[in-house]
Amino acid sequence: MFKSCVVLLVLSTVVVLEAQRVDYSGYKVLSVKPKTEADLDLLHKLRNDYSVDLWNEPRQTGIPVMTHLKPELVNHVEEALRKHKIEYDVAFSDLHSAIESERIQLAAATNTSDAAPFNFGIYNQYDSIIALIEGLAAQHPSVAKLSVIGKSYENRPIYNLKISPGDSSNKPAIMMECGLHAREWSSVATGAYLVNKLITAYGSDPVVTSLVDKYEFNIVVEANPDGYVYTWKQDRLWRKTRSHSSVDWLGVCRGADANRNFDIDHCGVGTSRKPCDEIYCGDKPFSESESRALRDLMSALKDRMKLYVSIHAFSQFWMTPYGISKMLPPNYDDLIRVGTQGVNALAKRYGTQYKIGTIANIIYEAAGSSVDYAYEKFGIKMAYALELRDEGRFGFFLPQQLILPTCEETYDGLVAAIQAL
Ligand SMILES: [Zn+2]
Repeated sequence: MFKSCVVLLVLSTVVVLEAQRVDYSGYKVLSVKPKTEADLDLLHKLRNDYSVDLWNEPRQTGIPVMTHLKPELVNHVEEALRKHKIEYDVAFSDLHSAIESERIQLAAATNTSDAAPFNFGIYNQYDSIIALIEGLAAQHPSVAKLSVIGKSYENRPIYNLKISPGDSSNKPAIMMECGLHAREWSSVATGAYLVNKLITAYGSDPVVTSLVDKYEFNIVVEANPDGYVYTWKQDRLWRKTRSHSSVDWLGVCRGADANRNFDIDHCGVGTSRKPCDEIYCGDKPFSESESRALRDLMSALKDRMKLYVSIHAFSQFWMTPYGISKMLPPNYDDLIRVGTQGVNALAKRYGTQYKIGTIANIIYEAAGSSVDYAYEKFGIKMAYALELRDEGRFGFFLPQQLILPTCEETYDGLVAAIQAL
């Protein structure tokens, strides 16, 4: 009796906690600038020893790594950085204030009237994103078709928007996926921009028209809907899915990193088997319904798929396989040729500079990603992962006025890459 009361008490506490917003008061966000391999090693050590959440992978020297630190760790970590003479900036002195000011800015910019047009210059909530996607399919049935490729853990539909006029079952296909990591809001914003542009400009914009006539586009704007909703309602920094992990029966540490969950060297380098870690690979390959949905769409398109793109944020990288090892993929030269066209076109409009290379060489080895899986298991020869703006100043909190420029330049880059295929 006593035991079950305790269990009930613990469970109800968890429920209460779950309903509250995660409070980041006193958390500090640093942008650390590693200059040597030893500096990079120290960042990895901080992650391993203290479960510090690194916002981006410690990779090449000279590229900032962002991280948020709980109040009790701030002094310790800053001291370690100073001791090792590692330069860093304080990106946000109080993460809670940064989240709140983003929320206030968004609330002020959001028109809640049903008749208001979709605003591509802000981050939009899940319901608005879905309304946009459903609306585009309903208003442009000759060129857009919506299908459900799976259901999230919490039973939300995972939509694919197929963009192509008429019967396209014999056409070469392109697949893009956005939002697999929940907190990377600019990825979802870019996906929304892309589908809208390809659908509404078809027939009037000659570039869009020729691309949509030639290829069947398949775009998953919101690949991790549960995580996205959770970032808006409870934890702005949530990255994973929201499934119950098999280990933590209390449900405190939920979800897996869907982009470490594909059946390609599962739980290998650059992943974690600890359910509470941000890069937790899941207890088995495709344990997550979100990664399964993408796999099933890949599988359906594999024989005619010419290009796969996985869109993330941040760091300004255009990356090719492999993540699983530092080995270069067989058609590396061709991947770089096409990717370079993308990177050059992307830089034209606003001067945004991307680095190009393999995932393992440009970032860090990371197993179980969608791009490696598409490339290796389905033989999709052109497969890329993009990390959008910025380079490590605002990270996931890319300011509102930079959203639309990010969408536009990414569109430019992707168009040039597709034209170079
Ligand atoms: Zn990501």
